[in-house]
Parts: sequence; structure tokens; C-alpha cells
Amino acid sequence: LMQLFRPLDMLGWVYRTIRQGLIDMADMFGLLDREVEVEDKPGAPALVVKRPTVTFEDVSFGYDRERQILQGLSFEAPAGSTVALVGPSGAGKSTIGRLLFRFYDPWEGRICVDGQDIREVTQESLRRNIGIVPQDSVLFNDTIRYNIAYGRDDPSEEAVRRAAADAAILPFVEALPDGFETEVGERGLKLSGGEKQRVAIARTLLKNPPIVLLDEATSVLDSRTEQDILATLKRVSSGRTTIAIAHRLSTIADADLINVMEAGRIVEQGSHTDLLRRDGLYAEMWNRQQSEDTAVAEAAE
Ligand code: ADP
Ligand code: MG
Repeated sequence: LMQLFRPLDMLGWVYRTIRQGLIDMADMFGLLDREVEVEDKPGAPALVVKRPTVTFEDVSFGYDRERQILQGLSFEAPAGSTVALVGPSGAGKSTIGRLLFRFYDPWEGRICVDGQDIREVTQESLRRNIGIVPQDSVLFNDTIRYNIAYGRDDPSEEAVRRAAADAAILPFVEALPDGFETEVGERGLKLSGGEKQRVAIARTLLKNPPIVLLDEATSVLDSRTEQDILATLKRVSSGRTTIAIAHRLSTIADADLINVMEAGRIVEQGSHTDLLRRDGLYAEMWNRQQSEDTAVAEAAE
């Protein structure tokens, strides 16, 4: 009988692995039913990450041949740093995330993680090393525990609690009559945007990837919740390489490097102070957002 079950176990593992890949993708891109465009090279080795440096070298890309989106774009996120991508909507920021996950291959140039071209390694190993916190996290109609543990093989009670604590959602969960067994989603408890983001953050913390991609992770939250979640995201970033895509500049002002994008190009690069001094696109966006914030604050009084 055991002989019969072993292949099923294996199937279960494969299934969970694939599903984990899918949920991260679906979370970020809402692309659950898209076709597979890239395949592993035959005999491709796993990505080996010792120092999680991420490098884009002269990357050009478009979703179709008629329309190029990224125009020879280069940047490096050194191991352990936080690098931000900012710029107007449609500039190509999320596309960079999709390429890093290898949903598509660049037309030209290459993308490396720890010196390895991501086309040369298995997609599974690549995706295992990257965690995403998307704009609007999707939760399953299941328990909070399931949502945090999603895709992991039976994480310990302790590990789930620690992830929840680090995501600052443990007190909330513990105050519920059913705790971690509380059903959420359509038929269960409705969570606020901020609570959903915290569950997604706990999931990422449990995954413990060396590289984290935050794609407008706080942009749908009100500004107070945003401030709370930003403090939590600092914990996610700590000790990892973080690529933070943001619309609101105040959320990434302390990044080690800020890349300002416009129409598929990086048009400015530097720290917040550098970029303000430069008095270009970043400074203009910053000043506009500051005055919007002031207007909002005044309207609230
Ligand atoms: P950003 O995240 O900076 O707002 P995106 O990277 O999402 O920008 O999009 C860049 C450009 O690529 C946009 O013009 C968008 O319409 C286009 N685009 C995004 N996804 C697709 C897709 N799956 N197929 C075709 N075009 C796309
Ligand atoms: Mg985007």
C-alpha cells in the first residue's frame, strides 16, 4: 500500500510547489489563467543564492513586437539593499517585476540574480527565492492559518505564530474566538485592506525569501494604515534585497537607491537627497505629492 501512496505524495508536493508559484503570480499580476511563455532549459540547474544581488543589464522588452515597453534599462540592487522604482503609471515598473519572475524573457539584455542569468536556472528555484507583496493581496476562502502557511509543507505552530507576530497581526488573530482557525473571505470574516496585507506579509515572512518585491504594497490603504504597514514592511526588508515599486514617494524616500522611470527608461537615479537636489522629475513629483498631502490634511481639519 505504501508503494501506492509514494507517487501520490510526490504529486502532492509537485502540486503544492506549482500552486505556490501560481498564487504568488496571481497575487501580483492577476494572471492565473495565462499561458506559459517561457520554459526551463533542459537540465537547467537550480538557482543558488549566496548573495542575493539583482542585476538588470540593458534590458529591452515588450509584450508584443509592435510595442516596446522597456528601453535598454539597467540597474543593480546589491545584496541586502532596498532599491525603489518610481514613476508614472504605465512607465513599466510592474513589468520589471514580471521579468524578474521570468514570466517573459527580455528581447535584449539580461537579468541576473547572484550572477546567474535567470534564463539558465529553473523557474521553480527562481520563484522560491523571491517573495512578493502585491498591491491588493488575494486571500483564500479558508482559515487564517491556511492563508499564512499557504504552499509551505506543514510549518510548525511556532513558525506561523512568529510570522504573524512579525507581520503585527498576532494580537488581532488571538482576539478572535477561533484564532488562527478563523475562516476568512467570502463566507468568513471580512478582513480590511490592511489586515489582508498583514496576512500576505506573514505569508512572505514564513516563506523567508532572500529577495522581496513590493509592488505598491501599501497603495490601496488609507494613509494611517499605510504608515502602520510601512513599519512592518521594514521588518520584511531587513536583511533581504528589496525592490520596492511605489507610487507615493514618501514610502520609499529612505531607499538606498531610487530609480525614476518614465516611458520604459530610467531617467534619474540616486538617493532621495540626490534627486531633490537635481531638481528634475523626481523633485517635481515629490513637490506635487507634498502639496497634495497638505491639501488633504487641510481638508480633513
Ligand atoms: P506600471 O507598473 O509602471 O504602471 P506596467 O509595467 O504595468 O506599468 O505597464 C507598462 C506598459 O505595459 C503599459 O503601457 C501597459 O499597458 C503595458 N502592459 C502591461 N501588461 C501588459 C500585458 N500583459 N500585455 C500587453 N501590454 C501590457
Ligand atoms: Mg504597476
